[in-house]
Amino acid sequence: MSKKQDETYREYRDRVVDPISGSFCGAKWYNATVWLNNGTTASCHHPPAHKIIDVDAGETFEDLKKNPSMIHNTTYKKLVRKQMLIGERPKECEYCWKIEDLGPEKVSDRVFKSVIYSDEELEECRDVYAETEDVDLKTLEIAFDANCNFACSYCNASFSTTWQKDIRQNGAYQNLHSDGARAFQQDGGWTKQFRKNESNPYTDAFWDWWPKLSQSLQQLRITGGEAAMSPDYWKLCDWWKENGQDLDMKFAVNSNMGHKGKTMEKFIETSHYFKDFIVYSSCEAVGKQAEYIRDGLEWDYWKHATDRLLQEGNVKEFHVMMTINSLCLYSITDFMDYCNLLKRKYGHMFGVYSVNILRFPSFQSPGTLPEHLRHERADHIEKWLNENRDSGIMHDMEIDGVDRLIDYLRSVEEPHRYTSSIESRHKDFKSFYKQYDERREKDFKYAFPELAEWYDSLPYEESIPITQLYDGDSSKQTIERRELEKRAESDEWKNQKSNPGSREYVEKKYNIMDLSVMEIDELRKIYKQVSVEHLNADWEKSDLIEEILREQEK
Ligand code: SF4
Repeated sequence: MSKKQDETYREYRDRVVDPISGSFCGAKWYNATVWLNNGTTASCHHPPAHKIIDVDAGETFEDLKKNPSMIHNTTYKKLVRKQMLIGERPKECEYCWKIEDLGPEKVSDRVFKSVIYSDEELEECRDVYAETEDVDLKTLEIAFDANCNFACSYCNASFSTTWQKDIRQNGAYQNLHSDGARAFQQDGGWTKQFRKNESNPYTDAFWDWWPKLSQSLQQLRITGGEAAMSPDYWKLCDWWKENGQDLDMKFAVNSNMGHKGKTMEKFIETSHYFKDFIVYSSCEAVGKQAEYIRDGLEWDYWKHATDRLLQEGNVKEFHVMMTINSLCLYSITDFMDYCNLLKRKYGHMFGVYSVNILRFPSFQSPGTLPEHLRHERADHIEKWLNENRDSGIMHDMEIDGVDRLIDYLRSVEEPHRYTSSIESRHKDFKSFYKQYDERREKDFKYAFPELAEWYDSLPYEESIPITQLYDGDSSKQTIERRELEKRAESDEWKNQKSNPGSREYVEKKYNIMDLSVMEIDELRKIYKQVSVEHLNADWEKSDLIEEILREQEK
């Protein structure tokens, strides 16, 4: 970490990060989350994932074969790097801008995600790599598949096979209308692009890149689904046993700590293959509230498994990612007490928690609670923080995270840019948890008596049943990507190097003869490529042709 002792994160930001640019973030160059099963990536947990191969822009799997580092150095990401270097705020990073707009003293994740690299490494982003060069990753989070034994309320079928089973057996969640609703009306089918015995070109690219990548990585983190349910996770453990002894790399794994029997034994045993084995788990509440939010979790077993792992395994750090939703606020301080207890029992790096405020789906976000409940919770958490802040047990990052949560509860009502109205979020809150209770044999009011009165007061409305599932591929929302490509073209940004599939920002122009022989679906696809304006579903073929020709002339 390049922050000086006694330097605050704000001082560090002003000394190192902001002089590169006021919107710079080291994660855009050195960090990636990659989902190999569906071929998407993002720079951290906050921006929406985008496709590694942009088929619509002419990229192919051959490009990936020639340059497996495209898993990280995508054409789109290089454009976003350019935006950061010229001090523009990329739209996809709105999570950080929302925090920063609360005031100059507020430190967003772009600082926490930059501080892990040296000052020189960060300056190289501007001086060596800029937006044109491929960068070797230093920190990587990667999912091989979506196999998972849990089906948490804020997750969905794109990331959990147990969620997939729920949707396949019971169909889409009904009566949901706010943003994010469709996450519960798809069965994750889009993530299974390759058959069981068919090779996945993204996974092949990872293993092709791995010999080089293993030399540059400072930290690798395996996620899922549940990493311990993935065959590729165990393949990697075996590789490490044979080849990894001299590697100077931290190895981290995301685990829900819900695996039992032989899997648990193996998990503990393989931790001894690594010099630095770090575990990230997830939770944000305790007891029946935790079990309600994270379906599959058994609170007592979770604590037992954590103790076993920390006592018998070779674990260097144990972190917990908290996903702050509206329900966890009623036992979050008990949970943080538990984490602080782990620190006292096992050491300062055990039970370290990160505060991640849920934005999607917005009806589950803390911003959906009525103002008086949010303020009451903010007061409660602030009181807890005041009692613990100077105990010496909390990390600065934890204190900052809890501080930000308190501010957020008091001032932010709209979790993200496309948030639906509060009325529709309230309706969806009621509809979702009513169905969640029925499908998962749970009882909202038993788990959250504090919210029972408000829950009863929420409106419930039935709407036309959804009988067909939606395509859950959220990376298809490429408006920002296309906007940025147009911008790059009009401002004549330097062409990126090295990606065989990179385009020269010369967009194909269609003439009336090309367009008139096309089917309407193809015309709609082209319209979305050439225009950032809304596509009118009622347009006839002739309207679409006219619109496309007009857009091309803009
Ligand atoms: S969302 Fe924030 S932390 Fe993530 S890549 Fe963007 S600026 Fe960095």
